[in-house]
Amino acid sequence: MSSLKLQNISKAYGKLDILKNINLDIEEGEFLVLVGPSGCGKSTTLRMLAGLEEVSSGNIKIDNNIVNDLPPSSRDIGMVFQSYALYPHLNVEKNLGFGLRLQKNENQLSEEEIEERINEIANILGITDILEKMPRSLSGGQRQRVALGRALARRPKVILMDEPLSNLDAKLRNQMRVEIRRLHDEIGMTTIYVTHDQIEAMTLGDRLVVMEKGIIQQVDKPLEAYHRPKNTFVASFLG
Ligand code: ADP
Ligand code: MG
Repeated sequence: MSSLKLQNISKAYGKLDILKNINLDIEEGEFLVLVGPSGCGKSTTLRMLAGLEEVSSGNIKIDNNIVNDLPPSSRDIGMVFQSYALYPHLNVEKNLGFGLRLQKNENQLSEEEIEERINEIANILGITDILEKMPRSLSGGQRQRVALGRALARRPKVILMDEPLSNLDAKLRNQMRVEIRRLHDEIGMTTIYVTHDQIEAMTLGDRLVVMEKGIIQQVDKPLEAYHRPKNTFVASFLG
């Protein structure tokens, strides 16, 4: 697990300023929720952290090392998206092990270690009984569990989730929300979770970051932000 820092991060597309002077310290093992209306820059922030998008200025640090110029594969970050494309031609076991089997050199694992990791994560996620199944035969909730497991099996330093539950129906969303938090408390991974949903933000995170138009409006514990909003935007967005 690792700490993460965003220092004076800005992002522009041409003349369009998308993110303005973002500063954030995420502690090791923390569960941080990034919340704000659609288009405020949440996904852009995550994509820069993952290395899928360059910063225009500022520094991203993992464990105090600047990672601005590292490619995604060298950052040791796991990602879970809204559309959790599993490999359709691989069963659940092979989906979970896919990233592990790609690891080379000092990170290379033996087949025995890989199986151990898969069994461990399958156990935590309660998907041990579907390891032989193909993605197409799974329910939406099962698929999302497998996607989570695939991201976690590598034990990345940081895990980023971009609206991972928005394709699920309300009942399943509630269930998975509880599960993700439980998973975090069990494994303790440093997590940044993006959502536009106030309820998710209020219930999931240790702290939340409220964003509007590429600017951080408030960083606080959920109830603190709810009861003591710093401005009218935060008040109306959370209230
Ligand atoms: P969110 O995830 O909060 O909904 P995004 O980070 O996806 O917001 O987008 C923030 C803003 O950046 C939006 O106005 C979007 O249109 C713009 N944007 C995102 N990607 C690009 C791009 N590749 N080129 C130009 N504008 C972009
Ligand atoms: Mg988005």
